[in-house]
Amino acid sequence: MGSLADELRERKTLDDEGLRDLLETGDDSLVEELHRNAREVATEQFGRVIWLRALIEWSNKCRNDCLYCGIRKSNRDIRRYSLPRETILECCDNAWRLGVKTFVLQGGENPNGAVALAPIVAEIRASWPEAAITLSLGELPPDTFRLLRRSGANRYLLRHETADPVHYARLHPASMKLENRLACLRELRSLGYLTGLGMMVGSPWQTTGDLISDIRLIESFKPEMIGTGPFIPHHATPLGHFPAGSPELTLRIYSILRLMLPQAWIPATTALATLMPDGRTAGILAGANVVMPNFTPVTVREEYSLYEGKSRPGAEAAETLNLLIKELDKIGYHV
Ligand code: SAH
Repeated sequence: MGSLADELRERKTLDDEGLRDLLETGDDSLVEELHRNAREVATEQFGRVIWLRALIEWSNKCRNDCLYCGIRKSNRDIRRYSLPRETILECCDNAWRLGVKTFVLQGGENPNGAVALAPIVAEIRASWPEAAITLSLGELPPDTFRLLRRSGANRYLLRHETADPVHYARLHPASMKLENRLACLRELRSLGYLTGLGMMVGSPWQTTGDLISDIRLIESFKPEMIGTGPFIPHHATPLGHFPAGSPELTLRIYSILRLMLPQAWIPATTALATLMPDGRTAGILAGANVVMPNFTPVTVREEYSLYEGKSRPGAEAAETLNLLIKELDKIGYHV
């Protein structure tokens, strides 16, 4: 038997002790082996191809008050917006022309706003029948999930944030329950959405045991997509004084998840790139295979500040995309 990384690649699982060792080891050569195995498995599955998703932050109106999130309803320092229909369609058009064929509509949790979005989703579906339409709109009533699905959406990202109910309760207001979030995920799947979940890495009070629970949840749910990034404090939130999560630990988690679920779509997330200048390529070299360039109009980006540093001088989508393609080319990948 080789190292733990080889064992994980071979068996697609490890016991808790093995996971703990991989998450906590100070052995750089083991970590490098973990990344190399994950990168090889990703290449076996997808070649050296990276999938692009156009992120469209359509609205920051939110009824929730997640303790970590900059667009929580208690933050009165931001102007609340919802992009008008024409602007959303323009963002999609922009993306499509640049060859990005998945549109991700993300926003605060706003059930009425989500219902109002349905006819726009239907228009997007009619205009780009071949596009994938991914939604990330939080927890909604089953009827609204169904309405949006019927309108043409086919994927849904709803991170579970943390799989431990006690930890979950420390990060969220009392009205939010992990169980509801998991029920939403099951509902989404039963409606035929490809689903994505994931956690923040290094959120306040998180233990290695919590991360192992997160990994087990993902292992058993077998989502098609896994959205995971480091926690980054936001000054206008109750958790604004906690330190950011570790980018290196985030990379290890990408690798572990790649080896467990070889076919999953795993983005190198914006939060990772915010903490690490070469976060996107580092993510890919650790087994991620998706990047989500931002197609939100630069005029509202500042208002969609989930965490500190997210809205650094926003480049236009086309420019960002060019830079990204060059970065990928340098490490031998293409879109
Ligand atoms: N309202 C939707 C989607 C918007 S938030 C929802 O609830 O799913 C999208 C993701 O941003 C969240 O799932 C969370 O994991 C991440 N996020 C929010 N605040 C963050 C922070 N301070 N640091 C890192 N990630 C954060």
